[in-house]
Amino acid sequence: MTRNQDNEYRCEECGATFENQVEWEQHNRKIHSRYTCENCREHFDAVEEFDAHNFKMHPELQKIQR
Ligand SMILES: [Zn+2]
Ligand SMILES: [Zn+2]
Repeated sequence: MTRNQDNEYRCEECGATFENQVEWEQHNRKIHSRYTCENCREHFDAVEEFDAHNFKMHPELQKIQR
């Protein structure tokens, strides 16, 4: 993700722009099937990677729904 001079968030995959990070994350999840770790803001292409990350980095959060 990049932020341009107009303070827009831009999707590097398709060039779509968003007013805030929440919209950008929703776009990623819906259009590109990406997952964002709410804790460290890392991004993952597959839910398996996201799960593996959570298991390794945030074991205390395993009971929390995503
Ligand atoms: Zn996109
Ligand atoms: Zn994380």
